[in-house]
Amino acid sequence: MIKKVDINGRVHVPIEMRAELGIETGDEVNLTLLSGSNQIVIEKVTQQCAICGSKKNLQLVSDTILCKFCAQKLKQELCE
Ligand SMILES: [Zn+2]
Repeated sequence: MIKKVDINGRVHVPIEMRAELGIETGDEVNLTLLSGSNQIVIEKVTQQCAICGSKKNLQLVSDTILCKFCAQKLKQELCE
């Protein structure tokens, strides 16, 4: 599929591709330049707990994403 890059460097990702990847308005994507291949990979950023990998009840603790359970467990261990 060929798309034009606009004056600001933006490229429209077709709705079919966004739907396939579950990318919605406001989601973050990660762009990776594959060196030596002239290709850019666009991946949906899926946030998950840095400890257990859960994707539910997330919160940011000192620049680290943790689920509520792990954040509470960490806090308890630090306070003991
Ligand atoms: Zn967790």
